[in-house]
This record gives sequence, structure tokens and C-alpha cells, in this order.
Amino acid sequence: MDKLIHGTAADDTVRVVAAVATKTVEEVVSRHGLSPTATAALGRTLIGAALLGATQKDFDRLTIKLESDGPIGGIVAEARPSGALRGYVKNALAELPANGNGKFDVGGAVGAGTFFVIRESGFGLGLHNAPYVGSVPIQTGEIGDDLAFYLAKSEQIPSAVLLGVLLKNTEPFVAAAGGVLVQMLPGANEHIITMIEDTIAHAPHLTSVIGDGAGPEELAALVLGEIEFKKLGEREIGFECTCSQERAITMVEALGRDDVHSMLDDDKGAAMTCGFCGADYKVSEAELAAILERISRA
Ligand SMILES: [Zn+2]
Repeated sequence: MDKLIHGTAADDTVRVVAAVATKTVEEVVSRHGLSPTATAALGRTLIGAALLGATQKDFDRLTIKLESDGPIGGIVAEARPSGALRGYVKNALAELPANGNGKFDVGGAVGAGTFFVIRESGFGLGLHNAPYVGSVPIQTGEIGDDLAFYLAKSEQIPSAVLLGVLLKNTEPFVAAAGGVLVQMLPGANEHIITMIEDTIAHAPHLTSVIGDGAGPEELAALVLGEIEFKKLGEREIGFECTCSQERAITMVEALGRDDVHSMLDDDKGAAMTCGFCGADYKVSEAELAAILERISRA
């Protein structure tokens, strides 16, 4: 499993969340068969969701969603408090040539549009709390910049966000992935902010440090430099989907009598694929008949 840590520095005026997510992004590639640029885009978004989730209390699901006009067609990344992550891009094979810096052109693949953060709570209590939805226009589409802009604009928290996915040519194709989120809390002084900005500007690439074996503690140190980090907690993170045969049946049932009838009579069953993880589900004739019986009783 990958690991995420969170903590503070400079007398609790700076919050730091850091994660290594190499295995998570490997799993995403193998499940969705993503192009390299789509891998970088979805990987960064999932890591961003994990980091943001670690700064929030009392939610059941936190989603970062990009609705945009680039070839990737949109991104969805979900994080749960347990550390479970899942997500997808609309066009898994979208690919562009590297940009001028020789990096994946994630910004070009994403294009222009809107960056959303959606926070849902109350699932376990059977409450139907209205989800919290915040949004900002996409800035560069490089994900880290957009998350930092969202935090500054929508939540008024000056933040630095570093997200990195480094790929290789051989399976499992992901050499290193991870991220760091640094937030300036009320009371953070200018001197500390300047020191951190300077440290980040001169820090080596996140993914090269992770590739050399660094854990999240080293990533926190990478952005804090000489400032001491106080670790407050850690958790495992990893790719995990919530789909199941039971949920597949519930979805079919929600389609209503006519659709279920035609699945039974014409198709002799139903098949569907989970968009989040690629798992295939088959609903048998017997299950369809049972669904119809439940619908007619209701
Ligand atoms: Zn699934």
C-alpha cells in the first residue's frame, strides 16, 4: 500500500500533507489502460484528492472533477476517509506530444473548463445532506496549479501543491508518483512563507526523490527545508472501488420495468462495466426475473 502523512510546522501555522502513490497509479494504469498523458492527468488528480481529503473533517466522499474541452474529455477522482481512491478519465487513450519542457502536456489534454471540488457527508447516518460543491475556472489544467488556485480562491487558504507522476517504458509503467500540499494557516508569518517558497523553488523533482526510495516524511522535509515537521497522523492509501454485484443489480432495477423486460426477453441477461475500475458485471436471466418480480410487487 501507499502512504500519506499529515502534520504541521512553525507552531501549527503551516499544514503539510505528503503522499507516495506509486502503487495507486500503477493500479490505475492497469485497470484503465491509460495513455501516458492520461495517466499523468488522472494520477495527479487522484493524489490531489487524497491530499485534500486529509485536510478535511467529516466527509464520506471527496471528489475532484474537471469538466473540460481538451482531448481527455473530463476527469473524476474520488477519495474516502479510509484512504480508498478511485477515478477515471473520459478518454483513456487521449494523447498529445510532450510540451516544450519535454513533459506530458497534461494542460493541453485537459483544456479549458471548470475545476470542481465536491464533498459529501452523512452517508452512514442515512442523511441526505446536500453535497458541498466549490468550483473555479481551470487555470493551466496541470492539476496542481488548479488545486492551489481553488484553495486560494474558494477556501481562502494560500497553498502550494506539488503533484508528480513519472512513467517508464516497461510494466508496470509507473516509476514514481506522489504529492505534497503545503497550506499557510492563519498566523503564518511572511518569513516562514518566503523560506518555504524558496525551498520549493530549489527542491529536486518530487518524482526523482520518490524514485530513489523516499517516503512521505522525506517529501515533507523536501518542502520544509530547515523548518521542523511535526507529524500528526498517517494512513495507507490505495486504489479501491465500491462497486459490487449487488450495486449492479440495484442499478438495473432503477432502470424500470420496460428496460428490464427487454434485457430479459431480447438480451437474455445484462452486462455492464464499472467506469471507475473496469470490473465487469453480468446480471443473469434469473436475477432479471427476480428484479421484475420486485418491481411488480412495489
Ligand atoms: Zn468499480
